[in-house]
Amino acid sequence: MGIRVLPPEVASQIAAGEVVERPSSVVKELVENAIDAGARDVRVEVRRGGKTFIRVTDDGCGIPAAEVELAFHRHATSKLASADDLQRIATLGFRGEALASIAAVSRVTMVTRAAEEEVGTLIRLEGGRVVDRRSSGRPPGTTVTVEDLFFNVPARRKFLRSDLTERRHIDAWLTRYALAYPYLRFTVVHDGRETFRSPGNGQVREVLVAVFGLEVGGALLEIPEEATVDGRVRVTGFVSPPSIHRANRGHITLFVNGRWVQDARLTYAVVQAYHTLLPTGRYPVAVVSVDLPPEEVDVNVHPAKVEVRFRDADGVFRAVQRAVRRTVVGGAPVPSVAPPAPARWIERDRPIPAHRRVEVPKAEPAAVPLQPPLEPSARPGGLPPLRVIGQVGATYIVAEGPDGLYLIDQHAAHERVLYEQMMTRREEGVPSQRLLEPVTVEVSPEVAPAVEARLETLARLGLEVEPFGGNHFLVRSLPAVLAHARPAEVLLEVAEALGETRSPVEREVEEAIVCGICKRAAVKAGQVLTREEMEGLIRSLERCASPRTCPHGRPTMIRITVEQLAKEFGRGSGR
Ligand code: ADP
Ligand code: MG
Repeated sequence: MGIRVLPPEVASQIAAGEVVERPSSVVKELVENAIDAGARDVRVEVRRGGKTFIRVTDDGCGIPAAEVELAFHRHATSKLASADDLQRIATLGFRGEALASIAAVSRVTMVTRAAEEEVGTLIRLEGGRVVDRRSSGRPPGTTVTVEDLFFNVPARRKFLRSDLTERRHIDAWLTRYALAYPYLRFTVVHDGRETFRSPGNGQVREVLVAVFGLEVGGALLEIPEEATVDGRVRVTGFVSPPSIHRANRGHITLFVNGRWVQDARLTYAVVQAYHTLLPTGRYPVAVVSVDLPPEEVDVNVHPAKVEVRFRDADGVFRAVQRAVRRTVVGGAPVPSVAPPAPARWIERDRPIPAHRRVEVPKAEPAAVPLQPPLEPSARPGGLPPLRVIGQVGATYIVAEGPDGLYLIDQHAAHERVLYEQMMTRREEGVPSQRLLEPVTVEVSPEVAPAVEARLETLARLGLEVEPFGGNHFLVRSLPAVLAHARPAEVLLEVAEALGETRSPVEREVEEAIVCGICKRAAVKAGQVLTREEMEGLIRSLERCASPRTCPHGRPTMIRITVEQLAKEFGRGSGR
């Protein structure tokens, strides 16, 4: 078979395939057009997961009658005039491909009326060909109905999943837009039933509650305004307190200039901000918006426009990481033993209809909302003064606080204390102890380059190390807190921590090293402590900024409130 130019229908189906992958892509493109048109009210109706019917109605600017047909031509757009404009795109669309692509693989009807015209236009296309066109009355705005998606592309139709799966994809897109555009009212109807509505009053918190439910939506911490400015980059949004976490990164939602994006590095920046606050393998819930001048970001990377490139990727990474970190640190409540019965007013499984105005508690949320919040206190980490009672199992310190009984894991608590002490001293240099005899240590070939690249940082943290050929290193001094440890164990621990961190941020590399050192240096479980040692440890813990978790994110303490004790003893509520 010789080379030939593809017939236009085949070429357009191929191109359409890049934009329209499944029903949710249609919903996404139509909703983006509505947002770009300045709509305040966007209604989405779907049948059978979008396979048979998708309709998006908006009250935006509409399309003038003379341009309606043009809108369905490939590369026809009102949002871009020159190649130069590509440098600063402020709209969601700009490629002029969506309507053409959708029309190529379905039966589309559009009824639209421009605000400045008396009457609207109806146009109908099948497989990209116009089959009907006439005047039609309607208020200003646009309605696009897409029926029988992929009726002419059986290969694609075969790959569609169950109605429910397709519906989930659609809902995922709609909740993203509802979160990014809180001033717009989104209504979603599946198979004749309204399933979601955002209030459209600009209150992101209300959208969060509509999307995540009261328990999570109400507990998310808002990134404070002062944490958001880093020169040109503004970071806003909501992130979970360390008490709320999930098994994967899928609950981290990112927007760049109002566009939902998938960005592994920014996701990593959010995860990194929780470093030492979450258990390993657990991830936060977050909705984070990054806004920066349009010329600083290239959105023309991917036909579906879900990937972007930053001119200064490291700067954006740092801005996000810092803003999230500042929001989270100090906001971690002490986990308490779960009360025997679930809290009555927490509606666990029932989604809360958003149009019912929900009062969201303004106060700092506690892990279990039934418990009163911790006493406010001048201590940096907000820990109340604790009175040591004794030790259990040579592992836990028992203490009394104003609001109940505290059980403190001595190893985890000591790790936290050492960690914060070393991190505050790391700039002027951590005290170190020279070994009488330097010791050679061999590390694995995978981590050797990471160690070699960080010799200076290691020295500042009290661990003086020199390359000694191959994967061997000579350890000359240890941090003073580790004076009695075995040098080989210390270096191997630190090397492993270094091998695992991929962060470009110096502070995070330091954190990883310090973490490794503290793990070795902290008192072990099973070690009997004197009363003075326990009191010393508790006093130091009270001075910590984040006393409630160890540097690996496990809790250092649990609390049993006076109310819980009363309940357990059948004394009624607190009497
Ligand atoms: P793009 O959004 O990239 O410009 P589309 O194919 O999605 O390309 O749309 C083509 C053009 O049709 C848009 O540039 C816009 O002028 C017009 N348009 C599409 N949808 C709407 C709408 N809902 N309201 C007003 N104008 C619209
Ligand atoms: Mg578009």
